[in-house]
Amino acid sequence: MTEQLEKLNRLPLRDDLRGLTPYGAPQLDVPILLNVNENTHGLPQEVQDAITASVQRAVSGLNRYPDREFTELRTRLAGYLGHGLGIENIWAGNGSNEVLQQILQAFGGPGRTAMSFPPTYSMYPLLASGTGTRYVTGDRAADFTLSAESAAEQVRAAAPNIVFLCTPNNPTGTALGLDVVEAVYEAGTASDAIVIVDEAYAEFSHAGTPSALELLPGRERLIVSRTMSKAFALAGARLGYLAAAPEVTDALRLVRLPYHLSAVTQATANAALAHADALLANVEDIKVQRDRIVAELTELGLQPAASDANFVFFGGVEDPKRIWQGLLEAGVLIRDVGIPGHLRVTAGTEAETTAFLTRLRELLGA
Ligand SMILES: *Cc1c(COP(=O)(O)O)cnc(C)c1O
Repeated sequence: MTEQLEKLNRLPLRDDLRGLTPYGAPQLDVPILLNVNENTHGLPQEVQDAITASVQRAVSGLNRYPDREFTELRTRLAGYLGHGLGIENIWAGNGSNEVLQQILQAFGGPGRTAMSFPPTYSMYPLLASGTGTRYVTGDRAADFTLSAESAAEQVRAAAPNIVFLCTPNNPTGTALGLDVVEAVYEAGTASDAIVIVDEAYAEFSHAGTPSALELLPGRERLIVSRTMSKAFALAGARLGYLAAAPEVTDALRLVRLPYHLSAVTQATANAALAHADALLANVEDIKVQRDRIVAELTELGLQPAASDANFVFFGGVEDPKRIWQGLLEAGVLIRDVGIPGHLRVTAGTEAETTAFLTRLRELLGA
């Protein structure tokens, strides 16, 4: 590894990439994977069959480049989101990480600043660094919540070009009120800030939690980002998307690679969207397991944050490293997000969730 590192350092690597290690949660071969917020319930057989048939049809045309404008896919995504959105409002990429990167390529870059409010999604600073965008952070309250007044004041002071708001937030799981989004958008007027609302976990929210999609009309600097990786159980297919004003999608056409969405990816996502109801059927069960984790962790004397996502962030853990290791030894992988006294766990199937809770209870001597 050190020899490898020496070889790497001999390359004419960009100065700002020297000494960095690649990002990624450990991919361990463990029976119960509750560490990266994947959909633990998998794809129903009928959806697997529909995807296989759709990909099969695409294969006969693989000698040709795919539809660069992924017209069918954008039509289906607009239909799924509703809110009066049309195909001109939709953009997609290979995972919402790629979509976020394209936003930074178009609106960030050298001399520009992106801002977020940690603890939040750990990819934001990495996407900023990869695109040469300066990254600044704002503060949350001690309980990791973020009020409209505080967020707006900090955005006014930092005058960023881009703001990331993650709701429900990763790693805390807590949703922001739309008042926070509105206040940040207003506060960003002076610096003409693009405001990205990352709603990767929106489908797992409790009934009645509003989406920032509602705020899009009349706000040309607002972008709502979504993904098929979580609720749609398609992390392996790599399909993320956004809704925004048509001029935003036109800006992203300036930086996207030609034919960036393969015909196989488009065929997969189109078939999945045609079966959205079947795919989303497991979301309700995951929400039940999520709420169960919150209730049982509370009984154990731990402090779970309110969660509108498919995972739970909990504090009051005396020795997170010991708990993480003890769970791993029992075949349960969760996430240590590096916040003292805290851990994060993805809601599993009922059996997986039971295994996690049982082992945790033993480790806590409860
Ligand atoms: C998982 C996740 C994503 C999704 O990433 P993909 O590239 O679409 O798989 C985006 N934002 C947040 C906050 C996430 O946790």
